[in-house]
Amino acid sequence: MIARRLFTRPFRALISVLSLLLAGCAVLPQGAGVALEWRPSPNFDERKANFVIIHHTSDDNIAQALGTLTNPLRAVSAHYLIGRDGKIYQLVDERARAWHAGQSKWGNNSDLNSSSIGIELDNSGQEPFPEPQISALLGLLADIKQRLGIPRANFLGHADVAPKRKTDPSRYFPWQRLADHGFGLWCEPPYPVPAPAFEQKFEPGSELQAFGYDSSDLPAAIRAYQRHFARDESAALLSEDDRALLHCLLMKSVALP
Ligand SMILES: [Zn+2]
Repeated sequence: MIARRLFTRPFRALISVLSLLLAGCAVLPQGAGVALEWRPSPNFDERKANFVIIHHTSDDNIAQALGTLTNPLRAVSAHYLIGRDGKIYQLVDERARAWHAGQSKWGNNSDLNSSSIGIELDNSGQEPFPEPQISALLGLLADIKQRLGIPRANFLGHADVAPKRKTDPSRYFPWQRLADHGFGLWCEPPYPVPAPAFEQKFEPGSELQAFGYDSSDLPAAIRAYQRHFARDESAALLSEDDRALLHCLLMKSVALP
């Protein structure tokens, strides 16, 4: 009774006018550039990221980093920025495509901006990452992984997905510590001995590519791999140990969820 009384004739008229106005403002769905009929379905949700890409800013302080990442003329951004003191800034909604990875590739994914969350760490690239910053990162990664269900192997660095152009995060970045918390893969010596067949047919380009790296520039891919997993970016070749490490990582990439 009360509800019926609320919907008096003037009120219903107002609702009708508002509905018409809203319909007039409605955003048209994005679609193909061909003639078609729009039949909206209720069965969908928002797209979600399936990778996390970690960067260092190459800046000297947080003010510089915030200035760059919010400047429309620079056309670069990330979803999150973490200061040396551990303060976390959010710059872009996770549902939107931030501009952090640029031209990038990992496995068959050729546009990481479309499928990843980008996290920038305020760091010059020439210095270790302070404890409060890494603690804050671990907390943020745990939250993202739990909410979005991102697989362990899909926590990567910018240089991993753009080895020809990028070197971040630097060799100071604690990948092993991240892997200990379930973010990214890691192997420590002694590595399992690869089967003789692996050694016989070993070809660095195809093995790195099988793991995910774009090996079209093989020395660049090797440097990115060495920087991430061996903390050494000087070696342009893969030693016997490096090959055993890669074999171990390949085994983990198919075995771990
Ligand atoms: Zn980067």
